[in-house]
Amino acid sequence: MGEVVPFKKPKLSEKHRGKTLCRSGFHQWQIIKERQVDVQQGKLLTVYRCQRCGKIKTMAC
Ligand SMILES: [Zn+2]
Repeated sequence: MGEVVPFKKPKLSEKHRGKTLCRSGFHQWQIIKERQVDVQQGKLLTVYRCQRCGKIKTMAC
């Protein structure tokens, strides 16, 4: 059999540490849209996106 090619280990960059924080629930939320209307509920929502992992959340205001 041939050689086993080892996987490249990713460097512990700022990004990686940030993702660890994200996994722990500490996202870096940034408002991307204020006052988006939720059609189903008829409420105004603020849309947040995490600057690190890109996760989206909405909050009723
Ligand atoms: Zn995040």
